[in-house]
Amino acid sequence: MTAALPIEPCRFCGGKAKCNALRRGNYRREGDNHQVVCNKCRARGPLIQDSQAAAIEAWNRPSPSDKKAHSDDVGVGMVIAATIIRPQSDVYAAEVLGAAGIGSVSDMRMIGCDDYDIDHLREVVAEMQRKRRRRDTLAAAPGEAG
Ligand SMILES: [Zn+2]
Repeated sequence: MTAALPIEPCRFCGGKAKCNALRRGNYRREGDNHQVVCNKCRARGPLIQDSQAAAIEAWNRPSPSDKKAHSDDVGVGMVIAATIIRPQSDVYAAEVLGAAGIGSVSDMRMIGCDDYDIDHLREVVAEMQRKRRRRDTLAAAPGEAG
C-alpha cells in the first residue's frame, strides 16, 4: 500500500473531501476512474482514469487554463450559495442565480449540479421565469400596463 496523498479541503465550503474509485465499463480489467468528492457540498473534482494520485492532484490544484471547468466551478459554487441563502430569501437566491447566468433547472444540470439539492431551487427559477415573462408581456404591450 502506498501512502495516500493528502486531500485538501473543499475550495467551495471548506468541507472534508474523499477520493472515490468508480469502476469503468463492465469488466474489472477496464480499470477505475478516480474522483475527489466533497463530503459536505458534493463538489466534484475532475474524473481521472486509473490514477488516484492524479485525481487528488487535480482536486488540490485545479488547472487555471481549463477555463470552462473553472466557470462551471463558479456556477456550481453559486448554485450552492443560492441553496444556502434560499431559506432566508427567495429574492436573494434568485439574484445569486441570475448573477451566475443560471435561469433554469436545465442550466443547473448543464454545469453538473445534478448531485446537489436543486429541487428546492426549482421554485426560485420558476419564479424568475414568471417575472421575465411578465416583463416581456408588458414590453410587448406598453399600452396595457397595469
Ligand atoms: Zn464542499
